[in-house]
Amino acid sequence: MSDDRLLSVQGLGKRYGQRWACRHVCFDLWPGEVLAVVGESGSGKSTLLNALALRTPLDEGSVHYALRADGNGPGGLHDLATLSEARQRLLARTDWGFVEQNPRDGLRMAVSAGANVAERLMVLGHEHYGHLRAQAQAWLQRVELAPERVDERPSQFSGGMQQRLQIARNLVTQPRLVFMDEPTSGLDVSVQARLLDLLRTLVDDLGLACIVVTHDLAVARLLAHRMLVMKDGVVVESGLTDRVLDDPQHPYTQLLVSSVLMP
Ligand code: ADP
Ligand code: MG
Repeated sequence: MSDDRLLSVQGLGKRYGQRWACRHVCFDLWPGEVLAVVGESGSGKSTLLNALALRTPLDEGSVHYALRADGNGPGGLHDLATLSEARQRLLARTDWGFVEQNPRDGLRMAVSAGANVAERLMVLGHEHYGHLRAQAQAWLQRVELAPERVDERPSQFSGGMQQRLQIARNLVTQPRLVFMDEPTSGLDVSVQARLLDLLRTLVDDLGLACIVVTHDLAVARLLAHRMLVMKDGVVVESGLTDRVLDDPQHPYTQLLVSSVLMP
C-alpha cells in the first residue's frame, strides 16, 4: 500500500522540569494540507510546534517526515531523530519554513529586505547576484511589497509589511511544510484580514502543507482543513475544521466556540 503522508506524529511529548508542556500528541499530515492547532494561552501549542520543527528535543514519541529522494538518501517517511544534525538543519532551512509571531524573530533586521529573501536560496547554492536579486524582487511582489524597496532594511517596514517579508523569506525555497506560530496575532486588526487573505492565496497556489498555531478560531476557519484542539498539553478534540467548529464534541471545544474563553 502506498503511504503518501508528509508527516506522522506518534505520542509526542515535551516536558519542562517535571511538567509536561504537551503530551500524547498523535496526528498525520498529508501534502498540501493545512492543520490548525488551537487552544488558550499556555495549552502547549508553541511547545508542540517547536518540537515538530526540531527546535526543541522531544522527551517522548517520534516525528516521521517524508524526505525527498535525493543524493542524501531515499525518500519516504523517516524518523527525524535519526537524521544527522546537518541534515536536520538543511531540512529546516529549505524544505520547511517557520513563520514567527513576531517578524523581528524571523527576519535579520541588519540586512536588506532582498538579502532576507535571498538568504535561503544561497543555502541551496544559488550564487548569481542578478538571479538572487530578481528572485527577491519577484517574491516581494508576490507578498504585495514594492519590489523597488528591495534594498531597504526591515526596520523601515510596518509590522504587517515585515510579516509579509518574513513569509516571502520562508517561501522562496518552495518548502513543502511551513510552521506558523500565531502569524497574524501581533498585527493590527485592520492588517490581519489582508495578511490572512494573502496567506490563503499563497498556501493554495503553492500547495503548501502548514501547521498553524492560533488562539483565533477565525484564523483556523479561514485557513485550515483540519484542526487539533489542545488543553493543558493534550489534544482533546480533532477533526475537519467545519465539523469541529460547527459541531464541537468536547466540552472544552464547546467553550472555545461559544467564545467563553477566547474573544
Ligand atoms: P501556548 O503556545 O499554547 O501558549 P506554550 O507551549 O508556550 O503554550 O506553553 C505550554 C506550557 O509550557 C506552559 O505551562 C508554559 O509555561 C510552559 N513552558 C513553555 N516554554 C517553557 C520554557 N522554555 N521553560 C519552562 N516552561 C515552559
Ligand atoms: Mg504560544
